[in-house]
Amino acid sequence: MKQQRVPLKLDEKLARLGLARPIDFVLHLPLRYEDETRLERIADCAPGDTTQVQGRVVAVDVQYRPRRQLVVRIDDDSGELLLRFLNFYGSQITVFERARDEHAVVRARGEVRRGFGSHAVVEMVHPKTRVVDESAPLPTTLTPIYPAGEGISQTTLRKRIDAALAHVALDEVLPDTLAPLAELMPLEQAVRTLHQPPRGDEAALIDKTHPAWTRIKFEELLAQQLALRRARARRHAKRSPIMRPGVLVERLRAALPFKLTRAQERVSAEIAADLQRAFPMTRLLQGDVGAGKTVVAALAAAQAIDAGWQAALMAPTELLAEQHFRKIAQLLEPLGVTVAWLTGSLKTREKRAALDAIASGAAPLAIGTHALFQDRAEFARLGLAIVDEQHRFGVAQRLALRAKTSSEVGMLEPHQLMMSATPIPRTLAMTYLADLDVSVIDELPPGRTPIRTHLVDDARRDEVIARVREAVHAGRQAYWVCPLIEENPEGSGPTRGAQALELQTAIDTHARLSAELSELKVGLVHGRLPTAEKQAVMDAFARNEVHVLVATTVIEVGVDVPNASLMVVEHAERFGLAQLHQLRGRVGRGAAASACVLMYAKPLSNNAKQRLRTLYETTDGFEIARRDLELRGPGEFLGARQSGAPLLRFADLELDAELVEQARDAAAWLIEHAPHAARAHLERWHGGREEFLKA
Ligand code: ADP
Ligand code: MG
Repeated sequence: MKQQRVPLKLDEKLARLGLARPIDFVLHLPLRYEDETRLERIADCAPGDTTQVQGRVVAVDVQYRPRRQLVVRIDDDSGELLLRFLNFYGSQITVFERARDEHAVVRARGEVRRGFGSHAVVEMVHPKTRVVDESAPLPTTLTPIYPAGEGISQTTLRKRIDAALAHVALDEVLPDTLAPLAELMPLEQAVRTLHQPPRGDEAALIDKTHPAWTRIKFEELLAQQLALRRARARRHAKRSPIMRPGVLVERLRAALPFKLTRAQERVSAEIAADLQRAFPMTRLLQGDVGAGKTVVAALAAAQAIDAGWQAALMAPTELLAEQHFRKIAQLLEPLGVTVAWLTGSLKTREKRAALDAIASGAAPLAIGTHALFQDRAEFARLGLAIVDEQHRFGVAQRLALRAKTSSEVGMLEPHQLMMSATPIPRTLAMTYLADLDVSVIDELPPGRTPIRTHLVDDARRDEVIARVREAVHAGRQAYWVCPLIEENPEGSGPTRGAQALELQTAIDTHARLSAELSELKVGLVHGRLPTAEKQAVMDAFARNEVHVLVATTVIEVGVDVPNASLMVVEHAERFGLAQLHQLRGRVGRGAAASACVLMYAKPLSNNAKQRLRTLYETTDGFEIARRDLELRGPGEFLGARQSGAPLLRFADLELDAELVEQARDAAAWLIEHAPHAARAHLERWHGGREEFLKA
């Protein structure tokens, strides 16, 4: 039997947006505005502008090449413009045909594009259109565009909001002695201005610099800061084991093959102090690629073990987890510590044994992928959870980890250490991650030489091959990273087809390079390779039995082969900034001068050009992260887009950095002097939505 879904009633749909009480509607602010107050002459339309034109319909065509589409030609006496619809209903054809026959006028709003062909006229793809009476007046004010769910029209929202505005008075809940408030527009005035934008302030309203926006941004940032402080207070109220360092820490330090850098000493001391507190540590250890985070993690684990607790280290990929396992086991097993190894790909019997060792406490340290924190893994006495490259785990996985590690033993919660090579810019750290304490390794181990980056058109591939040969003849090794197949438009990661294609590309590249460099040993590693084979190739590369390693991005994080001094990335324009920075970080780990060759194929988009230029200009991870944030925005930067985390809707972390600071100070002041107002403010802006912030 076919299941029929009962369509939601309007009120139910609105409730999904959090819109129930009149005050909810009043606070449902526009995301942006459209300027429909003016008409542009078609002759004056420049490609790239978003604008509004109107003209008589002169032709309506359904074309079939390159695919079925509806093309409507309009004329306003100054020039002609095409309206192109790739998806359309039959009824749209009728509407436009009738307009054509009646010489009616169509008003269209959209982005102007250059047309195709030599006599091309400009066009708009999927414009907003309306058949109008030629003399119909234009709106006199900006049109607010509201966030709307499926099946809710802007008109409906506007009506409900206007109705609510007529009844609701918006009282101030913040005391007027609060620092920046005197300089800001009163809340009620700000809200009314944004819903019913006055004439004359168009530019400031559109680019969100209007004082009404400033007040709303402050409100939003303040709510965020209050929520973060509340989360922190809750954390401090929890209990965790107190772990004092003992002889294992001492012996591990003595066994290290190098001297810790000053930065490593400093962050280790910060972590060591946290672990001796009675509430859970939530610390982010940041350090550029190659800064030496692993040994800091090992020292933290040793401290937990010293105090009789278990530690777990989780990494995002099997390859990386395995590297940690080898490195850390090599350090700790001679000191009598059993290290359990757990990943999804283990055979049942091995997995059973690892799970048993974890559950009985026989293994005081467990290293693995997220399999470590899946349902069946039960720790006897987990005291410290370490997560490497934590930004690579989804929010859902982080929540699972939190659930898994909470209230484990006698209501004690394990400490958490997160590690990341992706530096987090200051404003971002102050907002989304404000509940974390941050330790930074801001110095590389001595003896590293800076990496030179070259941008090379892929027409010059032969020269790159020659370079690889040269490096190998000089006793060095090279990575050759295969192109990424572009992600599907929803950004939900490569599709299955793309993955298969990526694999095929890797195999082809390997075959081609093997032929071109026939006197060298060329290896191949990719995500689909069975673990044992993957490890065999990596081992051979580590022993310099493989000279050139062809790889997909599985080597992006963590791989450590100091003799490799050349990194080649094909189709570098398809990679993100952080990814390229990580890849480049695979070289420059030894004393030899290293180079990174970023091959690109033209034409390059503007964004790709900026990414490549950034890589060329700097190797400073912080600068790269800052530009990444600029190019991508905080949502994508944090990978929070699919998480539902409440991103800032109005404030812009780059542009509003000063407001972020003011909001932070105001939050501290409020909690101390007016806790009531703090609660009321949070309630007004967040309601029950702050849970996500804690992930
Ligand atoms: P990352 O911070 O990227 O995880 P790793 O922990 O993998 O960096 O360290 C990178 C390399 O530097 C490893 O080969 C490691 O053994 C080495 N290393 C770490 N600390 C030091 C140090 N203080 N002196 C010399 N080499 C070090
Ligand atoms: Mg690492």
